[in-house]
Amino acid sequence: MNTKALYKLTYGLHVVGSFKGDKINAQIANTVIQITSEPATVAVSINKKNLTHEYIQASGVFSASIITNEAPLSFIGQFGFKSGRDTDKFAGMNYKKGATGAPVVLDNCNAYLEARVLQSVDAGTHTIFIGQLVEAEVLNETPSMTYEYYQQVKRGTTPKSAPSYQEAKPAVSPPVSPPSPKYKCEVCGYIYDPAVGDPDSGIKPGTSFEDLPADWTCPVCGAEKSQFKKLD
Ligand code: FE
Repeated sequence: MNTKALYKLTYGLHVVGSFKGDKINAQIANTVIQITSEPATVAVSINKKNLTHEYIQASGVFSASIITNEAPLSFIGQFGFKSGRDTDKFAGMNYKKGATGAPVVLDNCNAYLEARVLQSVDAGTHTIFIGQLVEAEVLNETPSMTYEYYQQVKRGTTPKSAPSYQEAKPAVSPPVSPPSPKYKCEVCGYIYDPAVGDPDSGIKPGTSFEDLPADWTCPVCGAEKSQFKKLD
């Protein structure tokens, strides 16, 4: 059995939100799918350890804001690599309370859905929440981010030889010679590539890891420079 076959499945990337009492939370999930059209139902698979899981169980509703391929890493990092138990994930974020009371994100998203839970399926580490669509809106026509694009291009894990890398970064100038090494974030797996820099944070291509400002942090998870390890 080759479980790499699972990587060939395609997914989008979404901010899944819910609430409990007067508190809201949201997290990143690739597993949002439409189940039926009449009536329209959607399902989402959420890890039982996550705060959003607790909120969906408490309120019986969830939202899914669909992320565009122009979203910066920091946006995904704010929802995906931090816990709502420690931080306010919505700080500085453009969002609104939806018809269900669940938060919908307006920044870096092209549409949102809201659903009321019809059924919860225990799937071991995760619960699959199946919900009936009660609200939906299109925000803009920017293409949706795919999970593959996020993994390979945004997180910098695509080898430079890969066609998708060239395709996605046409404006990147060649590295300054001699090429300086890449560094990997030990927390989230993001790879800092000097040839690419960190455009989301204003770091130009050709900036070596050593030349990054001391207060530079991982664009995905916010880890400090000291948590990066040199790649050979
Ligand atoms: Fe990181």
